[in-house]
Formats: sequence, structure tokens, C-alpha cells
Amino acid sequence: MADRLLLFGGTFDPIHHGHLIAATTAAEWMGAARIVLIPSGRPPHKPAAGITPGAHRLAMCRAAVQGDPRFSVCDFEVEAPGASYTILTVRHYRSVHPPSRELLWLIGLDALRDLGSWREAAALVDLCTIVTAARPGYAAPDWNTLRPVFREEQLARLAANIVETPRVEIDATALRRRAALGQSLRYFVPQAVEQYVRDHGLYQTKTGG
Ligand code: ATP
Repeated sequence: MADRLLLFGGTFDPIHHGHLIAATTAAEWMGAARIVLIPSGRPPHKPAAGITPGAHRLAMCRAAVQGDPRFSVCDFEVEAPGASYTILTVRHYRSVHPPSRELLWLIGLDALRDLGSWREAAALVDLCTIVTAARPGYAAPDWNTLRPVFREEQLARLAANIVETPRVEIDATALRRRAALGQSLRYFVPQAVEQYVRDHGLYQTKTGG
């Protein structure tokens, strides 16, 4: 049995059932017994202002998966100085895990279309297995736009690791808006996350939308 670890990075502001369903179904599909949630510290593609402090996003991830032995939560990006680049995080993981452990990094289809613009994108694709979560019936990316950055063999691996995950129309931006309007997050997020948002008065103003 392959020894595979699925790494899943995101802003997770807040983490919701869409994230958790995508992560668990992708892990099952890829035969990864363990999933690590990695909230980003300073996502390079999002304005820093308006993002909830990392400590809260970490705590919500921990609350979301508490008691589920498949999951752990990693503070590497939240604690690291500077912007969060996936290549730095994967290098860290590669340095602390045995070579026999295959590292998988989960992204969404939009991120795959953009992957060529990521820092050291070609090196990243060699260092870990990029797994793309796509909705049933998805349109494949235009591989020609990725050809300037990736070798054919890398493109073939990217294509082979697109996995179908259920369509769950929840997005974190809409959840922050709901909270700001005083609407409940119940059923959109795990109950412990809903409780955490309430206890800490998160998302009371319409920011970061
Ligand atoms: P925001 O609305 O704040 O931009 P987001 O949920 O789109 O939030 P992230 O928290 O960074 O952004 O998401 C982490 C990863 O989860 C991304 O790769 C994103 O594509 C994916 N993702 C987000 N929402 C869903 C969903 N409902 N189903 C599956 N994957 C999702």
C-alpha cells in the first residue's frame, strides 16, 4: 500500500463543508490515509487586509476536524515569516518525511489553470503530486497555456491526477457575508466552527469579500 499524505492548503476563512468534502473524497480517490490542513499565513494572491488572523483560522481548522483521525492541522505557514508559497511548504514537508512517503498537494481546478504562475511551478510538480479536485462534468484546462512552464511528462501527470469530487456550492466569502448579516452558518460549517465564529465574534463587519 502506497504511503501517501494529502496536503491541503487554503485561506480557510472559515473552513467549511465544501473544503472538507473535497479533501476527504480526493484522499479516498488517491489512497491517502492522512490529510493535513495547512491554513496559509499570507496568501500571495489575496490582499492581507481583511483576512482573519492566522490563529483564528488555525483554531477553526482544528475545531472542524477534532476527533477525526484522518486529519491533522499544520501551523507551518501561519508561523512562517513572509508570504506563503506552496513550494516552500512542500520543501519543508519533503525534508521532514521519509522519501518513501509520497506527498500529494490538493488544489482546485481554477488553481490548476493558474498553476504556471505559481512560484517555481515546475519544481513543485516534481517535488509532489499535484491532485486537482474537479466537479463532475468539469471542462479540462487548456493544456497549451501550461506548456510554456511544464514538460509534457509533467502535464501528463497533472492530467492523470484530476479527481472528481462532489459539487458543494459553499464559498467562504458568502459565509463571511452571512455572518456579517447576522445569519447562521449552521449546516455550512461543522458545528464547532459555527460555535467558534460566534464565541469570537468573527466576521461581524463586511470585509475581505
Ligand atoms: P474565499 O471565498 O475566501 O476566497 P475559498 O474557499 O474559495 O474562499 P480557500 O479557503 O483558499 O478559498 O480555499 C481553499 C481551497 O479549497 C481552494 O483550492 C479552493 O478552490 C477549494 N474550495 C473552496 N471552496 C470549495 C468547495 N465548495 N468545494 C470544493 N473545493 C473548494
